[in-house]
Amino acid sequence: MNPLFNRASSWIKGRFGERVQKIPIDAGFSCPNRDGKLSDQGCLYCSNPSFSPFYSDSQLSISEQLCRGRNYYARRYGCTSFFAYFQSYSCTYAPLNVLRRKYLEAINCENIVGLIIATRPDCVDASIIALLQQLSEKTCIRIELGVESFDDGVLAAINRCHDSTAALQAIARLRAAGIPVSTHLISGLPGEHHDHMIRAAQIVSDSGADMVKLHHLQIVKGSRLAALYAENPGHYPLYTLEEYIERVCEFITHLSPAIYLERFLNRVPPDQLVAPIFSGIDEAGFQRRLEQRLHELGLYQGSRVVVR
Ligand code: SF4
Repeated sequence: MNPLFNRASSWIKGRFGERVQKIPIDAGFSCPNRDGKLSDQGCLYCSNPSFSPFYSDSQLSISEQLCRGRNYYARRYGCTSFFAYFQSYSCTYAPLNVLRRKYLEAINCENIVGLIIATRPDCVDASIIALLQQLSEKTCIRIELGVESFDDGVLAAINRCHDSTAALQAIARLRAAGIPVSTHLISGLPGEHHDHMIRAAQIVSDSGADMVKLHHLQIVKGSRLAALYAENPGHYPLYTLEEYIERVCEFITHLSPAIYLERFLNRVPPDQLVAPIFSGIDEAGFQRRLEQRLHELGLYQGSRVVVR
């Protein structure tokens, strides 16, 4: 039976012949939306510490973090190949010589077969893209681009401090340079239109992005959203698991079949998560529920794409 959607894991197996585990690291970068360049408030939902595993610590060198992560995943899953995942804050936001040094340190670590670099659309100028092109001659490079929404009203409401045009231009520049792009989106943000997932799928399909990484809005302790939610929870409706599955079905079925999907849930440590609580479902469990629902609907990735 054909898969109902393209999993990024199958792309990775096709390219590397095996599972490649991401090791998240905190390389000590900042973010223009936090350090005052654009804003000192950050995105409404931002709480970077909640996304950092125990071995990800900017006080440790990149090599040490990768070594700890490698030992952990080798013990837990028997993995032998790894991506260094520059995850925390905006990981192309530093002088070029600093970026080059940090990326090369990761590339030169044992069993690292590539870099995944998370960043914002306004942090990939021509000089950074040229650096990424140089490094892609040595290793596999992928940019995880924080787009979050293609709706400028929503982007303003969450204080992203960039618009959707900036996101589309960044994707186009990266793709023109041959750098693969994974588009990071959040569903359930304040102010979304009822058909936002359909529109997002259409825009991503036309954008040239290679992959999508999606998750639902979560309210995390320490974020500004957590304080607002505590004051007025009714103002921030959150998905139930069933509602989110329906949104993901809409997204997948309107998404080009050429695009790979990385994941649908974001793991926030339970002690950091305020809401919504999805009863401990993990990524594999979510994907089983999603496949079941797609089966019931008789739908699959791209099945509702309208040829224009
Ligand atoms: S979510 Fe990312 S872009 Fe937004 S403030 Fe936090 S680190 Fe910066």
